[in-house]
Amino acid sequence: MDCIFCKIADGSIPSGKVYEDDLILCFKDINPQAEVHALVIPKQHIASVNGITAENSDTVKHIFEKIPEIAKLLGVNDYRVISNCGEGAGQTVMHLHFHILSGSNLGERLV
Ligand code: AMP
Ligand code: ZN
Repeated sequence: MDCIFCKIADGSIPSGKVYEDDLILCFKDINPQAEVHALVIPKQHIASVNGITAENSDTVKHIFEKIPEIAKLLGVNDYRVISNCGEGAGQTVMHLHFHILSGSNLGERLV
């Protein structure tokens, strides 16, 4: 499968790695939209939030359990977690990812 985040997960494409374990990887976004901008992905290919099922949701649970630790590694306490689901919502990479965004330019508005 020609998936850029699967290639980042298997190490065949380099990334600015922040955190890695058996199930998930966090790396810096290549085109940061905030002072701190990282992405957390499952190593297993899940296309989007719409691809989350009872069979793979343990990995998603693990992502959320690890986000506080990842935020500490990123040096932030206040941050936003976003997942765009589908092209119409701005998803450009069809491998589930959660953006972690932080910085002084984050306002109260979501969009
Ligand atoms: P989305 O638009 O929600 O699908 O987010 C995809 C994100 O992946 C964008 O913020 C891109 O900047 C980021 N991105 C794409 N390719 C790479 C890459 N090779 N390394 C790091 N981030 C990437
Ligand atoms: Zn993938």
